[in-house]
Amino acid sequence: MTTLISQKPELKAPEPEHCPGPESEDAGKGDACAGCPNQQICESLPKGPDPDMAVITENLSNIKHKILVLSGKGGVGKSTFTSMLSWALAADEELEVGAMDLDICGPSLPRMLGAEGETVHQSNSGWSPVYALDNLGLMSILFMLPDPDAAIIWRGAKKNGLIKQFLKDVNWGERLDYLVVDTPPGTSDEHLSVTTYMKDAGIDGALVVTTPQEVALLDVRKEIDFCRKAGIKILGVVENMSGFVCPSCQGESQIFKPTTGGGEALCEELGLKFLGSVPLDPRIGRACDNGECFFDQYADSPASNAILDVVDALRDEIEMLLENLNIN
Ligand code: SF4
Repeated sequence: MTTLISQKPELKAPEPEHCPGPESEDAGKGDACAGCPNQQICESLPKGPDPDMAVITENLSNIKHKILVLSGKGGVGKSTFTSMLSWALAADEELEVGAMDLDICGPSLPRMLGAEGETVHQSNSGWSPVYALDNLGLMSILFMLPDPDAAIIWRGAKKNGLIKQFLKDVNWGERLDYLVVDTPPGTSDEHLSVTTYMKDAGIDGALVVTTPQEVALLDVRKEIDFCRKAGIKILGVVENMSGFVCPSCQGESQIFKPTTGGGEALCEELGLKFLGSVPLDPRIGRACDNGECFFDQYADSPASNAILDVVDALRDEIEMLLENLNIN
C-alpha cells in the first residue's frame, strides 16, 4: 500500500491529541493548539473551505443510506452488532451493502465478517473494498497493516487523514444501498471527523448501542448529546446483552440488570425510538470469532429473531424518515 496521507504541511512536532488538523479551518486556533509547537506554522497556513469536501460528497453520492453505529461505552457489543446488521442487510440479495470500520485503534470488523488476512487493492478508480459476500464490501485499516497485531498509535490528525481518505477514495461501485459505519466508543476525533466530512453527503442517522445497566446508559446520554450538537438524527437505540439465553435449554436470565429501566426507559425519557433488545447468547461471540453469520448458523436462537427484528425496525425508521423528507 502506498502513502495513506497526502498534502500534509511540514510540522515541527507531531500533532497532539485533539488536534483539529493542520489542514482544517481551526488549525492553530483550537483548544489543543495552545502551547503546541506547531501553532505558528498552522496559523499561517492558508485557510478556506476544504476542497476535499466536494470530492467526498461526489464519492458518496451513489450511496442511498448512510448509518453511523455509535456507543457511549466500550464493551457493549457495538462492532458485534455492526457485523450482524451488515450480515442481516446483505441477506437481502437485492441490496448492496458496505461496512466501514472507523475503529482505527481497534479494528475488529474484518474478523467478524470473515475477511481477516485480506488486502485492499488500489486502482485508478480508488481503493476497492474487500468483499465478505458478493453484496457485502468492507473497508478497514486492518487490511493495510503489515502485521495485524501491530498497535496503531496515531494522534488525531493522522486518524482524521485516514478517515478522509476512506470517504474520498474507497470505490463502493455504481450503487450502494447501505453504508454502515462502525465508530469507536465515546465521542472522539473519529466521530468529529466523520460527521464533519460527511456533512454535505448526508448521514441518515445514528444507531446507538447500549447495554441495560445505568453505567452504560450514562455514557449513552453523552453520545446522544453529541449527536444533537452535531445535527445527527438518532434513528434509534438498541439494547444489547439484554438477558442471557442458555444455548441448551433456551431459558433466559438477567446478567446486566436494568437498574434504571434500561434502554427502553431511556428512550421514553429522551423521546427516542427504542429499536429492541438482543439477549446475550455465547454463540454470538463464537460466530464473530469465526467470521460467520450468527443467524445463519443459529436460526433457532431467540437472539437471532431479536437481531432481525431490530434490523427491520431500523429499516422502517429509515424509510419513514425518507417519506417525511419527501412530504416536507
Ligand atoms: S498541529 Fe498543533 S497547532 Fe496545528 S492544528 Fe494541530 S494542535 Fe493546532
